[in-house]
Amino acid sequence: MAMFPQNRLKRRGGMRIWGDTGDYMTDYPDLHLLIDGEQLSGDGRTSEEVINPATEEVIGTLPHATANDLDRALEAAQRGFHEWRKTPADKRAAILTKAAALLRERADDIGEILTREQGKPLADGRGEVAYSAALIEFYAGECKRLYGRTLVRPEGSRVEVQYHPVGPVAGFAPWNFPAINVMRKIGGPLAAGCSVIVKPSEETPASGIALVQAMLDAGVPGGAVQCVFGVPSDVSEHLLGSPIIRKLTFTGSTPVGKHLAKLAAEDLKIATMELGGHGPVMVFSDSDIDKVLDVMCDGAYRNAGQVCVSPTRFLIEENVFERFRDGFVSRAEKITVGNGMDKGIKMGPMANSRGLDNIQRLIAEAQERGGKLLSGGERIGNQGFFHQPSVLSEVPIDAEIMNEEPFGPVAILNPMAGEDAMIEEANRLPYGLAAYAWTQDAARRRRLAAEVEAGMLAINISSVSTVDAPFGGVKWSGYGSEDGLEGVKACMVIKAVHEG
Ligand code: NAD
Repeated sequence: MAMFPQNRLKRRGGMRIWGDTGDYMTDYPDLHLLIDGEQLSGDGRTSEEVINPATEEVIGTLPHATANDLDRALEAAQRGFHEWRKTPADKRAAILTKAAALLRERADDIGEILTREQGKPLADGRGEVAYSAALIEFYAGECKRLYGRTLVRPEGSRVEVQYHPVGPVAGFAPWNFPAINVMRKIGGPLAAGCSVIVKPSEETPASGIALVQAMLDAGVPGGAVQCVFGVPSDVSEHLLGSPIIRKLTFTGSTPVGKHLAKLAAEDLKIATMELGGHGPVMVFSDSDIDKVLDVMCDGAYRNAGQVCVSPTRFLIEENVFERFRDGFVSRAEKITVGNGMDKGIKMGPMANSRGLDNIQRLIAEAQERGGKLLSGGERIGNQGFFHQPSVLSEVPIDAEIMNEEPFGPVAILNPMAGEDAMIEEANRLPYGLAAYAWTQDAARRRRLAAEVEAGMLAINISSVSTVDAPFGGVKWSGYGSEDGLEGVKACMVIKAVHEG
């Protein structure tokens, strides 16, 4: 029987070998639900297959929760909430710190499982687990610092402003970051003192199960953190239809986000929505062009472009356009594509065939509208969902790819006539997640910080994600934040206690 990482580590005595394709050290584990601390599978439950996107092989069978399972999870979440919220903050912090340590111990194994179910290069899979450990460790510290404040009146009365955990949370995480997304769903609620039921993506379930298992092994009660799977719309309707759930947290596409936000609103549940983006990158001629090319070309193809904060629309000042374009294409053509388990691979397959079909459709439509395909554009091979790193240029703004999140390995390079036009194009879309700008001009940096409509703006740096800073969007990219103190406060409600 294939087991989850904590058991495998013992079995293998901590020895590991970096295997090439087909020579994995780690068996893909048996999959199950985690309800009230119990591992549940079989027993007549329906199930679905999990596929390795690099090989298209079936690697696992995932049980779906029945309606009874979900009711049981809800009842346990109610109980788990009362138990966990009463656990002293320093004890909660110690448990979450231990969970971070367990994740670090298991990072090699969980990272390998993640790569096998999602496709990204092994170092990135392991990096995701390391980020998840750092996030829960940061949250462990924050949960000790959730102070309220006291207003003391001269005549003797006072008001206490108190923060309380909102209650049981339902979290829905997508497949592009199978570990980080799940940790974002469970970390904030657990630090705040909430219980949480998470549904990782059915396409990448084992990473999420491993993260939840680490929480349980560290001492989080079985009712306080649970993991379910099923038909996504059935599970979300069931959980959000229950008055027990007091908060929704979702990462995924804008249409699904809008639908879930409506379901939450029917019961006035609070919500954090991390939805799609279409990251503009403003490249000004006063920037260090070679440096921009080095970091942003890597960024465009990270995780095969399946990143909500992917840099996608490159808006380049006209006088440096040709130099930038040529440098970008030559770098894109050097990106090594292959099975994420192999050494030296920079970009793995796309995570599923839907994404592959979609990117091909968007590239073809952009060409029909007059966009130039400078590199790539083709599927690689016919086994595994591999696609060439692709570069389009001079794409008109009525092309679909200029309006719809591509979520694949394609960068769009368009020449722009200066600062005003670049800001206007950056703000043109209803999305506002991440935006990027490269310039040495201090006054321009201030203007961009004030005028660019985005939840996150990276100026002269390529990353918008650190555990201690809020991560989230505006407009159609959603509302609320994860990470940072904001990610914990988002799971709390305020009570003002007036005393005479
Ligand atoms: P999708 O919108 O159907 O699914 C996205 C995620 O939401 C999946 O994990 C899915 O399980 C979940 N989901 C779908 N319907 C749900 C429901 N009713 N209740 C609860 N969860 C639900 O589509 P997709 O094919 O996976 O991706 C399509 C597009 O979505 C992508 O091309 C991309 O633009 C966007 N997307 C964004 C993110 C992100 O990080 N913001 C992640 C994944 C997908």
